[in-house]
Amino acid sequence: MHYRTNKLVIYLDLLFSSMVKEVCMRCGKGRESIYEIKCSKCGGPFEIPIDFEFDKYNGKDFPYNEKNFPYIKHFISLGEGRTPMIKRGKILFKLDFLNPSGSYKDRGAVTLVSYLMEKGIRRISEDSSGNAGSAIAAYSAAAGIEAYIFVPETAKGGKLKQIESYGAHLIRVKGSREDVAKAAENSGYYYASHVLQPQFRDGIRTLAYEIVRDLDWKIPNYVFLPVSAGTLLLGVYKGFKHLLDSGVISEMPKIVAVQTEQVMPLCAKFKNISYMPPDKVTSIADALVSTRPFLLDYMQKAISECVVVNDNEILEAWKELAKMGLLVEYSSATVFAAYKKFSVDNGVLVLTGSGLKVL
Ligand SMILES: [Zn+2]
Repeated sequence: MHYRTNKLVIYLDLLFSSMVKEVCMRCGKGRESIYEIKCSKCGGPFEIPIDFEFDKYNGKDFPYNEKNFPYIKHFISLGEGRTPMIKRGKILFKLDFLNPSGSYKDRGAVTLVSYLMEKGIRRISEDSSGNAGSAIAAYSAAAGIEAYIFVPETAKGGKLKQIESYGAHLIRVKGSREDVAKAAENSGYYYASHVLQPQFRDGIRTLAYEIVRDLDWKIPNYVFLPVSAGTLLLGVYKGFKHLLDSGVISEMPKIVAVQTEQVMPLCAKFKNISYMPPDKVTSIADALVSTRPFLLDYMQKAISECVVVNDNEILEAWKELAKMGLLVEYSSATVFAAYKKFSVDNGVLVLTGSGLKVL
């Protein structure tokens, strides 16, 4: 009987461990169902622990394959990832704005939407008036999922047209950015938040894989990233960490976070200076809007440097990039503006969003 009980306990443990693929970043509790958006115990965000070795196999399905993403059997692919990296002088530019919907967010949309399809979810909500909304709308269209994208009432511009063009429903919400998020969360549709759903952040680790692969499996000294809610930063950090843990690289590259004068909560925390968010973000870098990012504590641990740029510097950098043939959105030009103030050798600048979205 005793033996049987033990066997049962072992069996249940095994069953549970095979089910628990996501854990709270704060308290370590396992995620009990896909409907637990934040940890029910402590309110923390969930993440997907990487407990397998990175596989250097560089076939045509790299980097989105079942070896790198064992929790996805079938990818709803639009040809994301594998974006070019080019060299101009001493700078390496990773052209991630060449993803299918015109931003790096496709790297997370493909994993989140593919995962939700496998879980039988067919209607989702998301709050974003920008690239995340566009990416989720595009992959939902590809999957046959009905997407409801919640945006601030005041939002306007090409990205909204892009979201609607994919057939997603655009829902305008009065109030603050937090009010928009609440409306999406309480909509009755499955809340496919690009900030909270770990499958979204997890998809972005492919960007780190590609940077290292493009450098013959070596790291650059520095990687410059624009930082808002932290999905790009934490995703890329996780990718490098995975390569380090797997012995592919022997140290982490230094990550330089770039923020705007108006939206600089991470730089303020990192440099221990005071920061008062504005009532309204009016910077031309309109994709960088997270004045109080939920993931801030984790973001601070991932960076080596934080650089703040202003609108004039961004505009100058944007013009220079365009004259090099690189038409990106203002929020993406921030990394070049930062590089000009914090010049380094062997740096990769990730250009995240297409300039065609903001013309
Ligand atoms: Zn927790």
